[in-house]
Amino acid sequence: MIVIDDLSKWYGSFNVLKHCSTHVDRGEVVVVCGPSGSGKSTLIKCVNALEPFQEGKLFINDVPVHDPKTNLPKLRSQVGMVFQHFELFPHLNVTENLTLAQIKVLGRSKDEALARGLKMLDRVGLTAHKDKFPGQLSGGQQQRVAIARALCMDPHVMLFDEPTSALDPEMVGEVLDVMVDLAKEGMTMMVVTHEMGFARKVANRVIFMDQGEIVEDATKEDFFTQPKSDRAIQFLSKIL
Ligand code: ATP
Ligand code: MG
Repeated sequence: MIVIDDLSKWYGSFNVLKHCSTHVDRGEVVVVCGPSGSGKSTLIKCVNALEPFQEGKLFINDVPVHDPKTNLPKLRSQVGMVFQHFELFPHLNVTENLTLAQIKVLGRSKDEALARGLKMLDRVGLTAHKDKFPGQLSGGQQQRVAIARALCMDPHVMLFDEPTSALDPEMVGEVLDVMVDLAKEGMTMMVVTHEMGFARKVANRVIFMDQGEIVEDATKEDFFTQPKSDRAIQFLSKIL
């Protein structure tokens, strides 16, 4: 589904990603963790072509993201992305947030988009809030709307970048529950998170990054019980 092959990236002279290679297979959940500044967000943005990279290859469903001829808007419409800060449109209500891209990008009719939107809203348990504006929702609710909005596009894969790290602690669980359900339903997911409970529950593999390198890429069992590198051991000792 996602194949990253010897990817390197520089910001000017700063080598932010160094020879990164990994893959996320269909139906797999891969958790990406590592210290602040290790390149997790940059890597996940490369997957969605939100950031260019100078070396290496990256494929989604065999489509080469690195190829300038690739239709990036089309590719992005098949990749759901949820960020740390719920990037809902503040001036649109929940229903409008859910339907806009379906209508504009996928060309769905208003009715079709609304039906799909309400179905996804029900899935994240927020039907009662369909007419509210983002500012009238809690952080956890906003993030669940953001997930519903991404799901409305029928993505092949969902990317998450620390979706719960900006939330008050009591709201983390409700967002993780939605993500756990998604994982159990077979969604292919690449998730930057330090929620190791989530990783233990549903991850197939855990990737550990440090200073732009993928230092470990292991099954969750191996990662938690026998991390190979000192850097991962140190990191785990801090967050577990
Ligand atoms: P965090 O856990 O804090 O979110 P991260 O692992 O996601 O960190 P990145 O945001 O990918 O890390 O950043 C990796 C490195 O690249 C950092 O040193 C950061 O300062 C640098 N960086 C990120 N974006 C840019 C940019 N647009 N220009 C220059 N340097 C950048
Ligand atoms: Mg980050």
